[in-house]
Amino acid sequence: MSECIFCKIAAGDFGTEFVYEDAEVVAFRDLNPQAPTHVLVIPRRHIATTNDLSEADAGLAGRMTLAAKQVAEQEGIGEAGYRTVLNCNADAGQEVYHIHLHLLGGRRMNWPPG
Ligand code: 5GP
Ligand code: ZN
Repeated sequence: MSECIFCKIAAGDFGTEFVYEDAEVVAFRDLNPQAPTHVLVIPRRHIATTNDLSEADAGLAGRMTLAAKQVAEQEGIGEAGYRTVLNCNADAGQEVYHIHLHLLGGRRMNWPPG
């Protein structure tokens, strides 16, 4: 997926600073943050939406959540709390079709979400 912006970020093409990385996932700050902490956790491998996850990706999906937990701890928001969000397709407002887990924190979140 050479035209995918998040594949390019994961490959290091733009020199984006990673706040977390391992063999399977990387995490970096959102360009347009919606909270004091707004980090995106993405798989290095291109997967367009959560609908495209397979049974074989169970470990990868778990790694994304564990990465978010670690970044929350690094950011000092683990105890106060944070929100993780995976937007899928149009009704959820997905804009980038390479799955990304939003980690949002550092302020009080509203419920229900908009
Ligand atoms: P979505 O609506 O698809 O769940 O969220 C896409 C997110 O990616 C948005 O919050 C947007 O600000 C962020 N984003 C889009 N392009 C870039 C980029 O090139 N760099 C970074 N760091 N974030 C981006
Ligand atoms: Zn991609």
